[in-house]
Amino acid sequence: MKTGHKEIICNCCKKVVQKDGAVPNMEYLHIQKEWGYFSGKDGEIQEFDICESCYDAWVKGFQIPVESREVVELM
Ligand SMILES: [Zn+2]
Repeated sequence: MKTGHKEIICNCCKKVVQKDGAVPNMEYLHIQKEWGYFSGKDGEIQEFDICESCYDAWVKGFQIPVESREVVELM
């Protein structure tokens, strides 16, 4: 049985963030959105992946900075 990860490419800059079948060594943002009734895209599911550097550049343009906090490990 093939359990390898499939190739993931950053939609923004086309960088390969996850090579086909390789062990993940890069983080990326995956977004999947099912648009509903109140949108102009009712019933559409959209999906994309963004690498970390594109993510950083993207959120830098936000009017309100992203909320950020340290991960607290549960003992
Ligand atoms: Zn990118």
